[in-house]
Amino acid sequence: MAFKDIIGHTEVIENLLKRIKENRLHHAMMFYGRLGIGKRTLAKEFIKAINCKDFDNEPCEKCNNCKWINENKHPDVIIITNGIRAESLDIRLVQNKGSANGEPDAAEETSSSPKKEITIDQIRYLEEIIYTSPVEAKYRVIFIIDAETFNKNSANAFLKTLEEPPGNTIIVMTTSFLGMVPVTIRSRTEKIRLKPLSDADMKRLLSEKISYSSEYTDIVLHLLKGGLNRKILSTDDESLKEYLDMAADFVNSGKITVEEILEAANTLTRSNDRAERELRIYIFFTILKELLTDIHLGRAADIWGKYISQNTTADFSDIEHLDETIRFIRNAQNLYCNQGIIIKSELLRLSEQWNRL
Ligand SMILES: [Zn+2]
Repeated sequence: MAFKDIIGHTEVIENLLKRIKENRLHHAMMFYGRLGIGKRTLAKEFIKAINCKDFDNEPCEKCNNCKWINENKHPDVIIITNGIRAESLDIRLVQNKGSANGEPDAAEETSSSPKKEITIDQIRYLEEIIYTSPVEAKYRVIFIIDAETFNKNSANAFLKTLEEPPGNTIIVMTTSFLGMVPVTIRSRTEKIRLKPLSDADMKRLLSEKISYSSEYTDIVLHLLKGGLNRKILSTDDESLKEYLDMAADFVNSGKITVEEILEAANTLTRSNDRAERELRIYIFFTILKELLTDIHLGRAADIWGKYISQNTTADFSDIEHLDETIRFIRNAQNLYCNQGIIIKSELLRLSEQWNRL
């Protein structure tokens, strides 16, 4: 990867290059913007650029700094993120295995399952190592991925480092949810916004990532909204058609039968794998919400064409009901209960609220 290979974000890149040249770097930078638009990739290029031994508008990709950063193995680039994210990116996190007396910290979960939050334990360990000199890099970098996953304790513990980092330390953060980053942290960073990608850039990116048949390209682009949503991208033509037909049954005028509703619920929950089930539910409800919103705004015909009948209408309360259903299902996913029953009852309730039964 090089700056020139990054799709979109040209203004941000030009600005970063200019500042690297002029040596005007803020000690804490927050790259933010919607999911899947390349924040982490860009941040990583930036970290390489400020440390590369032979930087000439692009990192050289050959020096130790470039190589180690590419492999997420640079001793001077400390990556902090939550356990789940680290697992999905295959990153080994720096953290204590236990507290000073060798016992696991009682305040933290001691199970080996990955955590959804950046823990205080990680920050304490970070503080132990950042006051040593960098081994190879010009700048010691603290690279925080998904900064919205700081919890209250880890955010408080990190404040001191954020306010007064050791010399030559640069803190680089990324988040898709700037509003959820603790305000104490957010307010102490320079914020760099990455804009959603244009349709042309998205098409370029998609041509490298997936191969939808052109029949679905416009709908997929519409659902992605200028960001690479991996969940949406993981679906294929066949399931996409299935979701679209089902969503159309729910919104098109005329009545829906109880059998159709139960069949839809079965389709969504038929996998034994929880992640797969949640993915199906997520994609279906994302499509349903988007479709309904477009019908309400009177712009559905352009995008959804053959899936909706001409006299289909929706009003704002229909969307509110759908939002309630989505929230309820999402909360219920964290409980140990039969997901199939929940989906069935929620789809029935929704159809009744929509006056479709
Ligand atoms: Zn280099």
